[in-house]
Amino acid sequence: MSEPTPALLARAQDEVAELLSDLIRIDTTNTGDTASGKGERAAAEWVAGKLDEVGISSVVHESERGRASLVARIEGRDRSRPALLVHGHLDVVPADPAEWSVHPFSGEERDGYVWGRGAVDMKDMDAMTLALVRDWARTGVQPPRDVVLAFVADEEAGGKLGARYLVEEHPDLFEGCTEAISEVGGFSITVRDDLRLYLVQTAEKGLAWMRLTAGGKPGHGSFVHDDNAVTRLCQAVARLGSARLPTTLTPPMRAFLAAVEDAYGIEIDPDEPEQALARLGSISRMIGAALRNTVNPTMLEAGYKANVIPGTAGATVDGRFLFGQEEEFERQLAGLIGEGVQREWLVHDQAVETTFDGPLVDAMVAALKAEDDGARPVPFTMSGGTDAKSFERLGMRCFGFSPLRLPPDLDFASLFHGIDERVPVESLRFGVRVLDRFLRAC
Ligand SMILES: [Zn+2]
Repeated sequence: MSEPTPALLARAQDEVAELLSDLIRIDTTNTGDTASGKGERAAAEWVAGKLDEVGISSVVHESERGRASLVARIEGRDRSRPALLVHGHLDVVPADPAEWSVHPFSGEERDGYVWGRGAVDMKDMDAMTLALVRDWARTGVQPPRDVVLAFVADEEAGGKLGARYLVEEHPDLFEGCTEAISEVGGFSITVRDDLRLYLVQTAEKGLAWMRLTAGGKPGHGSFVHDDNAVTRLCQAVARLGSARLPTTLTPPMRAFLAAVEDAYGIEIDPDEPEQALARLGSISRMIGAALRNTVNPTMLEAGYKANVIPGTAGATVDGRFLFGQEEEFERQLAGLIGEGVQREWLVHDQAVETTFDGPLVDAMVAALKAEDDGARPVPFTMSGGTDAKSFERLGMRCFGFSPLRLPPDLDFASLFHGIDERVPVESLRFGVRVLDRFLRAC
């Protein structure tokens, strides 16, 4: 492994917070609609400028007007080796300034934190990556193999106009990439002073957003009526919403639970893991959802007048399935939805999973341990979806590795898409050092 180079990294560590603040100030709110979205083009050009300053050339690709993503390739010492992709999205979810302690697009640095929408999801990783490669370029550091950088649009709406577009229309940009790192993982959970679990994402659940439609006989609301679309739909929705699908332990979560048992000296009942997981704090909500398929009704639509029984009623349902569980999930759904209700997919995307082993994982583990004596890296499955779903299509092994050593009392999970999203400056500096060690060694 390469030796630490604190002197060289001083500049990256010093500028990472400022880069993040600047990036937060470019409002890249993704509403899911190109007409009302903004800022992705400006953000991509800003990143291109920061790379250009140090002599790294990049290309901006637009899927639709303003929906810009940027890709650059840093040549490695051994160009015959496969490349590594480091990707991050530039868009963010909306934020309402009235709810925040600081303006969500101020990028204000206060109390040792950088505040603003995107501070943890995921302009932090964008800024850490930028700070590091700028430092490398200034000081002549070359990675052992090609590193491809992708700063993309539209992740928060599923990536169709960002990562998915690049993968489908410009796959040559990722020529030779066999592995990728990005969100959501690499952050710490403090067990005790000398032990922190670092959760590395090796899997994420599949996405199955669906529309349910029930038909029935329309009629007058005052009559006796036994074929009511609203009733039929609501019965299905209630069954789905109150279902608790059985626990299934996939390999990453089996390893994760074993690590939690060991770290806390407890035993976890695999059928009822929630109680034991509660001690992990708010992150347990994300973890609990990775132990089973889930299904949650989110929208309802029916009728137009109090005394008219409508002929149809509709609902939207958010379903998520574990890797390898897609068919089982469809069986579970069919059983819950029952007769007389049609189901169609609105958005359907694959679950992805890779193993927690090999030289790349060894490099992550070594980099974390070198910067934190108490680090214990563990794999986990993310309950949500990321651009990994797109990049996996090109055959890459995808990992959530955006390293942050976090203060023990920070409620990190609630900051994702949350009010007062913020990230400790110290954590950013730590992340830059870990990424430096990792990328020099992999
Ligand atoms: Zn994200």
